[in-house]
Amino acid sequence: MSQYVQDLMSMVKAKNPNEPEFHQAVLEVAESLDVVLEKHPEYRAAKILERMVEPERVIEFRVPWVDEEGEIHINRGYRIEMNSAIGPYKGGLRFHPSVNRSILKFLAFEQVFKNSLTSLPMGGGKGGSDFDPKGKSDLKVMRFTQQFMSELFRHIGPNTDVPAGDIGVGGREIGYLFGQYKKLRNEFSGVLTGKGLNWGGSLIRPEATGYGSVYFASEMLATRGETLEGKICLVSGSGNVAQYTVEKINQLGGKVVTLSDSNGYVYDEEGIDAEKLAYVMELKNVRRGRIKEYAEKYPNAVYTPVDPNLDYNPLWNHKADCAFPSATQNEINGKDAQHLLDNGVFVVSEGANMPTTLDGVQLFLDKGILYGPAKAANAGGVAVSGLEMSQNSMRLNWTREEVDKRLHGIMKNIHKTCVDMAERFGMPGNYVAGANIGGFLKVADAMMDQGVV
Ligand code: NAP
Repeated sequence: MSQYVQDLMSMVKAKNPNEPEFHQAVLEVAESLDVVLEKHPEYRAAKILERMVEPERVIEFRVPWVDEEGEIHINRGYRIEMNSAIGPYKGGLRFHPSVNRSILKFLAFEQVFKNSLTSLPMGGGKGGSDFDPKGKSDLKVMRFTQQFMSELFRHIGPNTDVPAGDIGVGGREIGYLFGQYKKLRNEFSGVLTGKGLNWGGSLIRPEATGYGSVYFASEMLATRGETLEGKICLVSGSGNVAQYTVEKINQLGGKVVTLSDSNGYVYDEEGIDAEKLAYVMELKNVRRGRIKEYAEKYPNAVYTPVDPNLDYNPLWNHKADCAFPSATQNEINGKDAQHLLDNGVFVVSEGANMPTTLDGVQLFLDKGILYGPAKAANAGGVAVSGLEMSQNSMRLNWTREEVDKRLHGIMKNIHKTCVDMAERFGMPGNYVAGANIGGFLKVADAMMDQGVV
């Protein structure tokens, strides 16, 4: 690690104590950018990276709400407005009990680079709450969500900050958020993405992150003259990203053998085909049940509950070719990464944000496998959110084919940017460096142009 990165990290740690996820995200980026800053002293002189690690604005607020039994609950709401050099802040809202400043700052920081890679005019932000929607009635979710928006509405707007969904925030939550925003502002605008199709949403937005991650994997495979046809794939999670990752892998001829939730995972050696996926979608999106039920419905599948005493995740310890982590951060640690390599996995495409710990990333890079980091591989979601904003501004709707074609084109471009940047800065095949550098340059140049603000 260079002296510059060491000094930067000391400063980041001192100013942001107890934020390990944020430190992790900054360290990964700073190490990749060392060589760029070496070649471009003007960025260092203008303290571009030092400015980028400082959010432009952090909003934190109380969300009190009353449930249907009359009980009062108090949650905490956040919006991190990280960087607006190339467009309005853009990034999801996460509702999960683990949500805190560190997690949202790491997500917002990553989002800046990801949004830049899409080549669409979007800055980076992220927000959410420690509210847990799991197992809650629609009424509870609506009451909380309306109270959350009662504060958030004053900070966002179609040209200021445009939130979307993330963990725990799907179509239902976006609907309630939009309804409350519209009521408070008395205007119908494209202030959120992931909207319903009959009130301003874009076709392919629900599919976009999963499809995009699979398109990215296909591009990586193509560099070795291979395709997904016949490949065995491990997928984690069973939410939005995981579901559409499975759908696209199936369409391209691959076979998915795992899915999970926070209680455990299923291994289905016969493959999770379209019919089984339809069952999972109904289970998760309508009945809001647990993945364990999959093994009851399909008895050939094996369910393994989470064992808190294990220091690895057995989901990653099966023979396979490709892995698509699509649940949450740090779900692949060093031991898991080694298991993946030992089992023959040579493609990892990250649907989730920062799912691999730094030692796991290093193992993938050392081994030279096709490793697509989150900010490149899962950029399809925010890319189609950007396309939703364009359609809202133009007051028209593109067809499914049109949006999918654009998504595919954007993922191909991101892949090309990663490959080109990694080569240009002397690290061929290193998608981590390529993504970080590609995302950085556009934002850095905009910040240089706009002065010290
Ligand atoms: P989601 O629909 O809420 O699904 C999340 C899935 O991950 C669920 O199966 C959930 O299981 C599991 N999970 C969440 N936290 C977990 C934990 N701490 N341990 C184990 N499993 C956990 O969310 P999503 O939209 O698919 O998001 C998944 C990942 O993709 C996140 O990292 C998100 O930031 C990233 N991402 C999403 C988008 C998007 O467009 N939605 C775009 C880019 C990146 P439970 O139901 O048991 O909690």
